[in-house]
Amino acid sequence: MEIRLTGVSVTFPDREHPALDDVSLTVEEAEHVVLLGPSGSGKTTLLRCVLGAVKPTSGTLTVGGKNPAKAAELRAIRRCTGVVRQGNDLVHGLRAQTNAVLGTSPSWGLRDWAAVLRGRVPARYAERVRTLAETQGIQPFLKSQVESLSGGQRQRVALVRAVLPEPRLLLADEPTSGLDPVTAQAAVHTLREASGVTVVISTHDLSIARQFPRVVALRDGRVCFDGPELSERDARDIYEGVEVGT
Ligand code: ADP
Ligand code: MG
Repeated sequence: MEIRLTGVSVTFPDREHPALDDVSLTVEEAEHVVLLGPSGSGKTTLLRCVLGAVKPTSGTLTVGGKNPAKAAELRAIRRCTGVVRQGNDLVHGLRAQTNAVLGTSPSWGLRDWAAVLRGRVPARYAERVRTLAETQGIQPFLKSQVESLSGGQRQRVALVRAVLPEPRLLLADEPTSGLDPVTAQAAVHTLREASGVTVVISTHDLSIARQFPRVVALRDGRVCFDGPELSERDARDIYEGVEVGT
């Protein structure tokens, strides 16, 4: 799904500086884009705009030609979008495998519900959940309650949940934070493996960013870099002079 921002600004109440400042950006259908930028540069705000969770103060935004500010259009967008949020939002009290299938719930029938209520994975998803869990190294924890998992393990459950419904758009906010390099690589591979899917992820990991065909960097809410290859120099410029604690 194509994402098109035209002059999008977001200013939160009681904030002096905009979180997004006149951002114009088009992500083409099936394009894979990585978002970089110092903490507070607006990455999460941009992703939340696409999800309709934050409304632009000015400018326009369409996702697959639809306007996320309109409830009916937002529902249509959300139906074909997979999301991995920062500080993922798994449902406590449920097993990891139950959380992993939750994104498919709109298409559940009675048989599926019956399985889920018993803490099982509906038969039609069983093989895919097993494969994804193996790739992510979370197979041993599938039957555990999510609150007993480590942050990195939860992150990977959230990732499986996002890709299982085979979305056309995948948005992932720092999906590899807290993962070791090997696990992080597997996570990125899973996010990017389905063909034809538009993928936008944010990260602080430059080695991951360099694997993407397009890097967009934000600085103080503005796009400060947009290109196919990130050199050492570009990376330095993006983070140069960032003051810690501001
Ligand atoms: P990033 O994800 O790049 O770290 P964010 O998009 O989370 O940056 O934040 C951009 C700016 O907007 C920051 O200054 C942050 O404090 C501010 N901000 C984000 N969300 C809110 C909010 N809900 N209310 C007020 N300010 C916010
Ligand atoms: Mg963020």
